[in-house]
Amino acid sequence: MDGTLRILEKFIASKTPHLIVTADAAGIVQAQSDEEWNAIFRSADLRTPDSVGVLWAAKRAGKPIKEKVSGVDLVDRLCSLSADHGYRIYFLGAAPGVAELAAEKLRLKHPGCNIVGARHGFFPQDSDAIVAQEIAETRPDILFVAMGIPRQEKFIRATQSTIGASVAMGVGGSFDVFSGRAKRAPMLLQKLKLEWLWRLILNPRKIAKAKNLPVFAWRVLTSSK
Ligand code: UDP
Repeated sequence: MDGTLRILEKFIASKTPHLIVTADAAGIVQAQSDEEWNAIFRSADLRTPDSVGVLWAAKRAGKPIKEKVSGVDLVDRLCSLSADHGYRIYFLGAAPGVAELAAEKLRLKHPGCNIVGARHGFFPQDSDAIVAQEIAETRPDILFVAMGIPRQEKFIRATQSTIGASVAMGVGGSFDVFSGRAKRAPMLLQKLKLEWLWRLILNPRKIAKAKNLPVFAWRVLTSSK
């Protein structure tokens, strides 16, 4: 996490657009059947391990990674850095009202956190350019897009030259978490690394994503190291 933040601060200082993917196992499986998403994934400026499945796969491949670096934790840490350094942050995504509420909660948690705009993520792809223009006017350094994999990454790639955020990152269900709409799992389940099971039980929509997990495990087990 600390290494990731050092890299992200360099990106911010560079004042040029960077795309960051927070990769979970289900998203990686999706990238194997979606060419556009695959190309974005491979060309991203940084990929972070956003699930225990990815940590397990990395260990098996002989390239162990120390810890998970999730979208939810990066939102929190970057909001804290924004309070110290004034980084301008934009929240795009989730149902109407949720991004605004998440922004409000994070401003209370990190006084001085500079969230310059927030907007819901329910609009058709042919409106991407209009939404991008709206966001560009707020001149964000950091753009969090919470619209689910791979819609959020496709939005970022298509609009990054218009928006110009130095760090643009897909963060999945993070605004639901910070707004209080989605409760994080009890600490015991988090410690047992079973938060995914909690989310699955609370949100049956996730079952579609969960179907990718055995596929991921199978591909890791049958791939050569
Ligand atoms: N969402 C959105 N626009 C859409 C579809 C989904 O803003 O067109 C939001 C949804 O409300 C939720 C987030 O995207 O807040 C997706 O969360 P999820 O945890 O499913 O994302 P994941 O990281 O698992 O892909």
